[in-house]
Amino acid sequence: MAKADASKLDWNNLGFEYMDLPYRFTAHWKDGKWQDAGLTEDATLHISEASPVLHYGQAAFEGMKAYRTPDNHIQLFRPDRNAARLRNSCERLLMPVFPEDKFVDAVKEVVKANADFVPPYGNGATMYLRPLIIGTGGVIGVHAAPEYIFTIFAMPVGNYFKGGLTPVNFTTSQYDRAAHKGTGQAKVGGNYAASLLPGEKAHDNGYADCVYLDPVEHRYIEEVGSANFFGITKDNVFKTPKSPSILPSITKYSLLYLAEHNLGLGVSEEKIDVHDLDQFAEAGACGTAAVISPIGGLEHDGNLHTFYSETEVGPVTKKLYDTLTGIQFGTVEAPEGWVQTVE
Ligand SMILES: *Cc1c(COP(=O)(O)O)cnc(C)c1O
Repeated sequence: MAKADASKLDWNNLGFEYMDLPYRFTAHWKDGKWQDAGLTEDATLHISEASPVLHYGQAAFEGMKAYRTPDNHIQLFRPDRNAARLRNSCERLLMPVFPEDKFVDAVKEVVKANADFVPPYGNGATMYLRPLIIGTGGVIGVHAAPEYIFTIFAMPVGNYFKGGLTPVNFTTSQYDRAAHKGTGQAKVGGNYAASLLPGEKAHDNGYADCVYLDPVEHRYIEEVGSANFFGITKDNVFKTPKSPSILPSITKYSLLYLAEHNLGLGVSEEKIDVHDLDQFAEAGACGTAAVISPIGGLEHDGNLHTFYSETEVGPVTKKLYDTLTGIQFGTVEAPEGWVQTVE
């Protein structure tokens, strides 16, 4: 694959596609410590065929973005939260933790080295960063790996769901993404492998993606599989599901805070019954990649429940979107400690 060339990119029409940028950060865990940490130009990994990541899915990742501000600085949104979540994911899969402060420094190094690829301010495009840690080395029994590779690569991206702030329809899934005491709270590869078939079925039936229900009763909304769910009730409460098998979205917890402190809404994390959607005036899916995707309708058991509109974003969702993205791009004042300047 050819290296990407920043001068040839059409910033207004970026999709959500991999690109091979000039630099990535890598570090190797060997003999009980992290070593050889630094930037490299090599976009390929060389690992043993017996690496536990390949057989037993010992892999965790993060997703974050770098934003260009109107005055041409580059900033990160709550990177310390990604560092902390990767720590949790690594602990769950018995992987060594890359120190949280060094994680944030490494992200900044990757952004700086590839700064030409951070899209200009103005149309919502960003640089997406993918920190990844995998278990390597030769073992065939079911054990934690003897060696690990930590890497962070990056690429410029546009919208994740086609349409941006245009509502999309979702459908509930017959499948489960994760169990209550499984790995739902960890951002690990296996959860995504399990979500490919349900996601494809949803796409085949004309939906943007599927919404998972709780794995016990198949009654309470969990999340979208790459984004968390929220609803705005008719009496202005920002509600989001509470469940032990949901991935704790940094975007979701940020919106929860902004809904309360910037918009003056009530907020609640609680069980949301898929049969009780009438309580909501608006609904959306949120995550770093998706930002906020308004949910036009949610299909369940053959019925399409529509929220605000199938073609237009609702007013509260729009306000949340403007506040969140304003903070991320540096045009709205951020709560203490939420943004870190790269350069
Ligand atoms: C990453 C992810 C999200 C979104 O989390 P953010 O921190 O907001 O990017 C939601 N659900 C799942 C399953 C995820 O992996």
